[in-house]
Amino acid sequence: MQDARSLLQNVFGYPAFRGEQEQIVDHVASGGHALVLMPTGGGKSLCYQIPAMLRPGVGIVVSPLIALMQDQVSTLVELGVAAACLNSATLPEDVRDIERQARAGTLDMLYVAPERLLTPRFQSFLSQLDIALFAIDEAHCVSHWGHDFRPEYQQLGQLAEQFPTIPRIALTATADAQTQADILHFLHLGEARVFLSSFDRPNLFYQVVEKHNAKKQLLTFIQSEYPGVSGIVYCLSRKRVEDTAAWLSENGIRALPYHAGLSHEVREANQREFLREDGIVMVATVAFGMGIDKPDVRFVAHIDMPKSPENFYQESGRAGRDGLPAASWLCYGLNDMVQLNQMIQGSEMAELQKQVELTKLDAMLAFCETAGCRRQQILAHFGEASGACGHCDNCQHPPATYDATVVVQKLLSCIYRVGQRHGAGHVVDVLLGRSNQSVTSFGHDTLSTFGVGRELNQRGWRSVVRQLVARKLIEVDIVRGQSLVLTDACRPVLRGEEKVYLRPVADETKTRAGGERWLRTEREERLWQTLRRWRKQVADEHNVPAYAVFSDRTLRQLIEDKPGSRKELARIYGLGELKLARYGEALLRLLREAQDEA
Ligand code: ADP
Ligand code: ZN
Repeated sequence: MQDARSLLQNVFGYPAFRGEQEQIVDHVASGGHALVLMPTGGGKSLCYQIPAMLRPGVGIVVSPLIALMQDQVSTLVELGVAAACLNSATLPEDVRDIERQARAGTLDMLYVAPERLLTPRFQSFLSQLDIALFAIDEAHCVSHWGHDFRPEYQQLGQLAEQFPTIPRIALTATADAQTQADILHFLHLGEARVFLSSFDRPNLFYQVVEKHNAKKQLLTFIQSEYPGVSGIVYCLSRKRVEDTAAWLSENGIRALPYHAGLSHEVREANQREFLREDGIVMVATVAFGMGIDKPDVRFVAHIDMPKSPENFYQESGRAGRDGLPAASWLCYGLNDMVQLNQMIQGSEMAELQKQVELTKLDAMLAFCETAGCRRQQILAHFGEASGACGHCDNCQHPPATYDATVVVQKLLSCIYRVGQRHGAGHVVDVLLGRSNQSVTSFGHDTLSTFGVGRELNQRGWRSVVRQLVARKLIEVDIVRGQSLVLTDACRPVLRGEEKVYLRPVADETKTRAGGERWLRTEREERLWQTLRRWRKQVADEHNVPAYAVFSDRTLRQLIEDKPGSRKELARIYGLGELKLARYGEALLRLLREAQDEA
């Protein structure tokens, strides 16, 4: 019998297990139950795939999204693993065939949706099988608390009574204590061992920029840092999704829209295209993304502020699952904060829930406005201590905070003098001494604070306003026309008893969002393009996504290491035995030709 490590190397082509994978695989392969909490891209799939292959019988994998099961299965089949899925799109003759293979014991893994698993028909089918394990992916769907509640998931607990001796492994990237408790409770995993990994994503580069013209800023970001790669852009509204996708397309970027207002067919088609093709930018509302396991998404951009650090972490975490450098780019302004605040206040939620949401929104703003390391801040939100990452925007260019007490006092007293009845735009106009119509019509050009703030420009003042909102020295009153109002906390500052340190407006152009960028020589670039074209052709022939043939990381290592023989090729990341046998000769030929040309 093969052991776990040789399966990892021979089938998947990976040199070593990551983090806790090995302990999890050993535990489940020897019959234990497990709850695995690992960040997106951490490598959860191997934790059940390898035990399913090691143990006799078929591994039953419960997965909530039909569209994505197929891609998981394609990737496994490309590796030579006997995997299949059953869903509403499976043809009846294929269903019979797959069921026959499962009964005959020639199938390693079978993916099903929870609805199907729970039907009497499927239950009786299960009773005829030799089952290796049950894997319950995206297990947070069991919890009301989580963001993707699915009622069927709660019934999966019955597997414990039906199949008491078969190991069950639940997996999720959502770590909060409430969700965790719900998973253990509803899935009857009381005896399971819990494997909690660090939620750090060391290959993610975080950058936050201040919004002045989001679409233009986004375009510049993509053109200068990430041209021609796959990315996701999150927007707050459907209309903004449409606008932004159209704007990117007009500017020569292959962009597709995705939101709940589009027909099911269009959404499916766009999602498929994004998964399969190389270099598409998906512009979407948060309706897009659960279960998206495209490994080579190079950036996730938010052009509106997410409503909580949890949402932000989940969404930005869809970048860089392959472990190569990737960026999370967030563009936000005070209006985002106001808009989200209005959405929460105006919603049907119970009062207590509203308070929870508002607290999360505050934490999100604090993340945006921090002068410290972004990674540290986000992990601290999840209760995890960590060092500074060294490559986020603030780590690259630590903002030198300055004593802004006088500036802050000017702003606070100006807010007071305009009667706490005006928004940020008006207050800033007064500070800058702009006698426009609104200012004169209220007689605010005669105030003592009129024109006392010329040391900063408009952007500078807006930044001060946001930082003070983040620190709760002022609030935006969304009921009364977004007026700025003072809080009790600002009294000691106004009286001169407390100093305030702020950071100046960041220069976003100084920061490189590429993290460690892979600089290719011209020759390497040509080879890269050749390999990508070849990969696309093979993927089309096999009708699978490009990454199921080879990941970017494999292509990169091929170019860097330039293997000249089968033996050297076997050391490349992602080249297992089947792929070596299938593609080894073709790859060596392509590499040789590139060598000759040069
Ligand atoms: P998750 O489900 O936790 O988000 P995946 O299981 O999809 O993550 O894994 C993310 C990526 O990392 C995939 O491309 C996978 O093949 C790769 N991967 C997983 N484990 C390893 C490993 N031990 N070595 C190298 N690559 C790995
Ligand atoms: Zn940092």
